Amino acid sequence: MEQIRCLILGSGPAGYTAGIYAGRAGLNPVLYEGLQPGGQLTTTTEVENFPGYPEGIDANAMMDDLRRQAQRFGTEIRPNIAVRADLSQAPYTITFDDESQVQCHTLIIATGATAKYLGLPDEEKYRGQGVSACATCDGFFYRKKTVAVVGGGDTACEEASYLAGLAEKVYMIVRKPFLRASQAMQERVLSDPKIEVLFETNTLGLFGESGVEGAHLVHRMGEADERRYDIAIDGFFLAIGHKPNSELFLPWVKINGEGYILTEGQTPRTGLPGVFAAGDVADPLYRQAITAAASGCKAAIEAHRYLQENGR
Ligand code: NDP
Repeated sequence: MEQIRCLILGSGPAGYTAGIYAGRAGLNPVLYEGLQPGGQLTTTTEVENFPGYPEGIDANAMMDDLRRQAQRFGTEIRPNIAVRADLSQAPYTITFDDESQVQCHTLIIATGATAKYLGLPDEEKYRGQGVSACATCDGFFYRKKTVAVVGGGDTACEEASYLAGLAEKVYMIVRKPFLRASQAMQERVLSDPKIEVLFETNTLGLFGESGVEGAHLVHRMGEADERRYDIAIDGFFLAIGHKPNSELFLPWVKINGEGYILTEGQTPRTGLPGVFAAGDVADPLYRQAITAAASGCKAAIEAHRYLQENGR
């Protein structure tokens, strides 16, 4: 079976940055792109908060640059998706969707997280045209506009607050009659005159000619006093949670209650020798391209050290 010194799973900022560092360190890294080549950023339009791009950059162009930078230093990029992992003993065995298998001495798990969506066909229809799952990424485009945030947890409240600093008006669409967020966050959104919380409300769909212009809502769905109505909005933000893509590695790495891989202190070490986790799969808190890139760098440095120490 093919033996790889440094295997990287995932092609977001964490995976590609790991590729750049591992390549430069001479580890002959092989990177598998996975389900969404380029990662979550490819679902947004422009990136304006990644240092080094004073004018902002198209998200896909940025990921393409990172990819080419990783390739320039010798990272071999393959398109497949990992479907099984056997981390019971080193070298670790990974199986891909075409049934090919490789063994690796170090593994960098950079499989990311997936924002949860409601599952409405309109979310797909307007993705990148008014539908977003990241206020920090896309909020800036809604200055002086009207937006809605779906969800009632801490993320939704944080995103609503952030957006209220930019937009003219922010609706929060909350399916329960209360917010799940911490008391402090609740107070912040409830006292913000720009934020209107629509409790016991669900979204039925979105409408608009060439982008989102409004949402079809239902209040107290299924109850005797159910009421359907529309709101005019320019942006529709999902904040109903993220799902880290960690299932494959679950029997072997430790995870927190939400499925994020737990790493040791400020390192990307998982506790399993030679196995590191970088980017959103191990980050419930920050989830930014720049923090993911930084952890990819750390993981590659760790992989290099591990290989040196173990004479590989
Ligand atoms: P949560 O799981 O806490 O909240 C998700 C919210 O989305 C809930 O209000 C939930 O409603 C709603 N929701 C879920 N599915 C649907 C759906 N299909 N339709 C409509 N609404 C839906 O996720 P968060 O991302 O907000 O937070 C994750 C974790 O991270 C939490 O532990 C949170 O405390 C933490 N966090 C902490 C922050 C901080 O301390 N600064 C900032 C951000 C997150 P319902 O209540 O009805 O289930």
